[in-house]
Amino acid sequence: MGAWLRLAGATPAVVRLWEIEQLGLAGGSVERTSLLAALRKNAAVPSAGHYDYEDWEGLRVAEGSATVALRLAEGLGHRVRLGSPVEAVTVAGGRAGCTVRLAGGETLRASAVVCALPVGPLRQVHISGVSDARLGSLHAQRQARAAKLAVAYADPFWRARGANGLSESEHVLGSTWPQGYAVLSALIPPERLGVLLGIPPQLREQELLREIADLYGDQALHPLALYLRMWGTDRWTQGYVTQWVPGDVMRVGPLHGTHEPPFYVCGSDQWVAGYLEGAVRTGRAAAAALLSR
Ligand SMILES: Cc1cc2nc3c(=O)[nH]c(=O)nc-3n(C[C@H](O)[C@H](O)[C@H](O)COP(=O)(O)OP(=O)(O)OC[C@H]3O[C@@H](n4cnc5c(N)ncnc54)[C@H](O)[C@@H]3O)c2cc1C
Repeated sequence: MGAWLRLAGATPAVVRLWEIEQLGLAGGSVERTSLLAALRKNAAVPSAGHYDYEDWEGLRVAEGSATVALRLAEGLGHRVRLGSPVEAVTVAGGRAGCTVRLAGGETLRASAVVCALPVGPLRQVHISGVSDARLGSLHAQRQARAAKLAVAYADPFWRARGANGLSESEHVLGSTWPQGYAVLSALIPPERLGVLLGIPPQLREQELLREIADLYGDQALHPLALYLRMWGTDRWTQGYVTQWVPGDVMRVGPLHGTHEPPFYVCGSDQWVAGYLEGAVRTGRAAAAALLSR
């Protein structure tokens, strides 16, 4: 992307502007983003422009994204098993030919397996019975590893400065945005995750609040609540959104997002643009493919 911008005559300031936007999105530097992947994403997403803020920031789950998973889980009841990490999957045809081994040794049998794991944790699961090409494709995918800060205040004090809470930044926080009436959320992009990890844990929250204070004033230093979550190093997530660096589209190849019955894949990483939309789209598609057999 960076090379293409320069080829198209972008000045250093314009390239920097794009880089700052990427820090805000936390999806990875323009210098490490495949132009092919970006074009593919832009062709697939329902947006008139370059995945415009108005489009992706304007559509929200009213009670927070987690309610999507929680509502779906309500309908599934006891069939959802929590605290049961999968360690190994064996795929074979025939009735109950597939096995899924959980930590602790319990083995489940099924006629098909739908894998909804992000690509990072998936690399830790031993999978047999699917082609080497499939595993090679799945394991070639990567995630942009980020962290998130959410800070709740008594009131949206930034408005008194004429600010709406949306910012992009080149500090440790790549962006802030209002998540609710008086809640600010912020992303720490992959380029800054190492910097964040380098801050002694007892100093992290204060340093991040200081950055918000530099933007909106010292009231930022006195939140009602603060929550920092290191998604990029979380064992069960190991990321944030899919990242496509130059070469990845061809390396992951045409098997991306496809199935090898009775082994099916879904989840954000299996769609061209990631995100919750990708999780829902690929989940529906995998269910349809499975039910059509
Ligand atoms: C900070 C942050 C901000 C984001 N903001 C947005 C946003 O504004 N809009 C948007 O659309 N998307 C956003 N996303 C991305 C979105 O959250 C993800 O794309 C989406 O949640 C991925 O859904 P998924 O079902 O593919 O994977 P996940 O939601 O990651 O679910 C995978 C599940 O697999 C479990 N798991 C992992 N390993 C194992 C194992 N071995 N055995 C059993 N279970 C396992 C995990 O515990 C997890 O519950 C954000 C993500 C982050 C981290």
